[in-house]
Amino acid sequence: MRKKYIIVTGWVISGIGKWVTTASTGFFFSEKYNVCPIKLDGYLNIDPGTMNPHEHGEVFVLSDGAEVDMDFGHYERFLWSECSGVQSISMWKIFAGILEKERRGDFLGKTVQMIPHVTEYINERLEAIFDQMGGEICMIEVWGTVWDIEVELYLEAIRQMRRKKKTEDFLHIHITYIPTPGWVDEQKTKPTQQSVSLLQSKGLFPDVIMVRGEKVLTKASREKIALFGNLREDRVFSIPDVESIYTIPRLLEKQKFNKLVFGKLGIPFHESKKIETWEGTLLAPQEKVIKIGLIWKYTALEDSYSSVVEALKHVGHRLGVQVEISFIDTRKKHGIEKVKKCDGCIIPWGFWDTAIENIIETLTYIRENGIPCLGICLGLQLMTIEFMRNILWVPEAKSLEFDRDCSPHDVITLLDSQKDVVNLGGTMRLGKQASILKPWIIESLYEAGGRLTPSGAIFERFRHRYEVHPKYAKKLTKSSLHISWVSQKKWIVQFIEMDPKVHPYYTATQSHPELTSNLESPAPLFMGLVQACIK
Ligand code: GLN
Repeated sequence: MRKKYIIVTGWVISGIGKWVTTASTGFFFSEKYNVCPIKLDGYLNIDPGTMNPHEHGEVFVLSDGAEVDMDFGHYERFLWSECSGVQSISMWKIFAGILEKERRGDFLGKTVQMIPHVTEYINERLEAIFDQMGGEICMIEVWGTVWDIEVELYLEAIRQMRRKKKTEDFLHIHITYIPTPGWVDEQKTKPTQQSVSLLQSKGLFPDVIMVRGEKVLTKASREKIALFGNLREDRVFSIPDVESIYTIPRLLEKQKFNKLVFGKLGIPFHESKKIETWEGTLLAPQEKVIKIGLIWKYTALEDSYSSVVEALKHVGHRLGVQVEISFIDTRKKHGIEKVKKCDGCIIPWGFWDTAIENIIETLTYIRENGIPCLGICLGLQLMTIEFMRNILWVPEAKSLEFDRDCSPHDVITLLDSQKDVVNLGGTMRLGKQASILKPWIIESLYEAGGRLTPSGAIFERFRHRYEVHPKYAKKLTKSSLHISWVSQKKWIVQFIEMDPKVHPYYTATQSHPELTSNLESPAPLFMGLVQACIK
């Protein structure tokens, strides 16, 4: 099949979920075709790896070790495929490419300009990535809103792309937000109308308008948007607020969105089987409520822990329970009181010393009172410190990350491979790594989840600089907190778990199991946590 291009732009505000449209559109093709999403970010960082999750949301890690926007998490969960770091483009990567070309002499004799050189380079790069990834349905999501100065060059590149493509190979979906101000209680279409004329002034003509809003789009609003957007009414779609993002493909299908998109791109239509599977899972009753405390500092923005939140949803659907998350900010002192109201806890990933001692104190309570607990990355490190201090007689136990002078009590120490690293961006131990099995609870969870390879290894993605000090790891092996799995290549502690005779569920991993969780295959360690809570 000739490559088909789907562009997704957005308007009014950021955070309306352009990714929902990208991922859901790709969803309809993903059973038959290779869908390749690319995200065009406007910022000048090379990648989001050094950004604050409160500002940017979670940093998602791909198997190849690339640190990318959290949108990629949604792409992978909706499209059933692994993405590669090359699919994440920032404006800096574009400028760096231009710089390299200029030094090489590719523009010899020319004045290098934004148009045509940068815009042509953007298109060359997009094509190269789609070729490399074998993309058939090539999706491009443009960062921010179409008004942002940061995306001007991307939009111009897309205008040039459209000129060169056949009409049936190109589809532009524009997603906007329709406000319903309380004082008039009426959907207001003006911002959407304005954005279409803004796009038109840039030579872009959306083929489909996707309208986000609190409520379903009314007939009158649809008519108005179609009229001012220069579209037929059946090209205007509505995504109201929904309980679960996984219901959106069905919601779009009911509006015949998939039929329209297949038709516009000249692709023979097929029904989605995946939609039935998802619906079966989603419609199962969720009677019991399980309350999970998520303990740490990026609690002001749910997106900071986006994949953890999603993984808990996957497990809830699988086990037929409603998982309610209580965000517990340990910088405020009453962590333990809040934990008492939860069925189980998660200590997620994190960086820099913020309220670390409060978390360790809370962990003592969790461990001593048999509250099911899962530690993720930093969570594993803190659970180890707590155990060393209170059970294995190392009262001075600390992490070198939070106290540079704590040696020889650096129970958590810098990875050997990190010792000469100077730069902070993109230098952690990143990406997919194998772990070797020791038979215990974690093994049985991965086996039940169908994630054990025939050779007895499992794979998870990592993002860390510190590890359990090998010297102290030896001490652990003789205790009730077992090292269950270690890295295949080096003796790096990757999983720990407490003897089930001592605690119902106290496991942790240096990896990020939340990143590969999806509706069809929930992350085993999250399954174990919620199962223990149900018990
Ligand atoms: N800050 C810790 C480290 O770098 C934990 C990282 C994480 O939680 N992702 O090892």
